[in-house]
Amino acid sequence: MNRTEFIPMVDLQKEIDLLKAPLLKEMKSVLKSGEYVLGKKGEELENQIAEYTGTAYAIGVANGTDALYLSLKALNIGPGDEVITTPFTFFATAEAIAQTGAVPVFADIKEQTYTIDPEKIKETMTPKTKAVIVVHLFGKAADMEDIMSLAEKYNIKVIEDACQAMGTEIEGRKAGGIADIGCFSFFPSKNLGAFGDGGMIVTNDHTLYDKVRELRNHGSQRKYHHSSIGINSRLDELQAAVLLVKLKYLDLFLHKRKEIAKRYTEQLNRYVKTPAPGEKEGRTYHQYCIESGRRDELASYLKKSGIASAVYYPVPLHLQQAFDYLGYQKGSFPVSERIADRILALPIFPELSIEKQNNIISSVIHFFEHGAD
Ligand SMILES: *Cc1c(COP(=O)(O)O)cnc(C)c1O
Repeated sequence: MNRTEFIPMVDLQKEIDLLKAPLLKEMKSVLKSGEYVLGKKGEELENQIAEYTGTAYAIGVANGTDALYLSLKALNIGPGDEVITTPFTFFATAEAIAQTGAVPVFADIKEQTYTIDPEKIKETMTPKTKAVIVVHLFGKAADMEDIMSLAEKYNIKVIEDACQAMGTEIEGRKAGGIADIGCFSFFPSKNLGAFGDGGMIVTNDHTLYDKVRELRNHGSQRKYHHSSIGINSRLDELQAAVLLVKLKYLDLFLHKRKEIAKRYTEQLNRYVKTPAPGEKEGRTYHQYCIESGRRDELASYLKKSGIASAVYYPVPLHLQQAFDYLGYQKGSFPVSERIADRILALPIFPELSIEKQNNIISSVIHFFEHGAD
């Protein structure tokens, strides 16, 4: 194997090469401005993300985890409250709930989409349930219509963890912009990624907007006047400048992800379970995941063939040591556990060449037709 030919899960360098001139120009203008935190670039990005997601307000924060935490705090969630979410997500989703002092309560996912099952949410609700965090996992929209009507009926709030779903369309609307409040991450590998950490909260509710703006800046709206206990979670100007450049290309990049996904599905669905097609909700393929009972064997074969793959996520959150105190056991969420044993993400990023896509496709097919030799 030629080491230089190794195909990684994501290659950010290609995008940087492509956008180098405008990126450097924008970054230089920040250096000259003397404004590094909470300045004009950040405000401009907030305006553009609000417009992009079709929401009234957007607030830049330090990362996606803080976006979730600040959203919960703005909704007055804390000790004594329960917040329902999926056990099949990145740790931060439930971690943010625990950080507020509330109890994360898990509800299992749907086999086809890996997103939280509205029926299971209903079964899990108690009088203490204050909110649900839905996760648009891998860029696939959760069942927002069912979840929003459930929430309305039982008077609970809904937070969208859209950290993996910037740009995902849900019946003509954008992920993050549908529920009470939506959270994004600009971690470098996300659909829209910075050169460091960053995050954004979107909402149509002016009270929540006001509260989040206060909480992200030490509980202060006016310098040295603090009306609540907040945190320091601000988006810096350099990251905002980078994101303003990349946002212009987001839809193009998402389109490329979809094209790659379409090719993978067409070629591979005879061999493995591929993402379910033909649904009205959008997908942006933050990750492209297949399922196989021979997952680990396939992953090591791909590695030998010079192709990266990754397991998101090998351990569902109810089985994480940090959540032992919640008292769940193996078997508590059979769908999540089964998927965790079978799922495998293949490389997908906008600049992945057709040649490399073909290489990946033929390696997977070779494995199933001829075995690992
Ligand atoms: C990335 C991610 C987060 C956390 O975002 P950070 O910016 O890394 O803090 C939260 N939830 C999901 C589903 C994510 O993928």
